[in-house]
Amino acid sequence: MIQTEPLGGLHTIVTHRTNRMHQRGHDHYDTHCGNRCDLADRWAARNLITPRAFLAAARDAHTIADVAANLWATPAIVNAYIAGLPPDEWLIMTRLVGHKVV
Ligand SMILES: [Zn+2]
Repeated sequence: MIQTEPLGGLHTIVTHRTNRMHQRGHDHYDTHCGNRCDLADRWAARNLITPRAFLAAARDAHTIADVAANLWATPAIVNAYIAGLPPDEWLIMTRLVGHKVV
């Protein structure tokens, strides 16, 4: 699919916002990119996505990419958010969403 200019602009904003928060995650853990990027992503996810926002985004979506688009986040950050949830919280979240998000 050919991206139109507004979509390209939105993609740039989402990527910039995510990268900035990823870098702040590294600052938080006093690490540099290439070392513990998983921690930086989880920090970014926790600070970009609230449980309420995740629920609202996931109820209207069936894929991680759709959830990410609804949250103005990257799929990697959504995956980091999910990975950072304790299993019991993820179970509650999936029940509240009402369907599987793959
Ligand atoms: Zn990194």
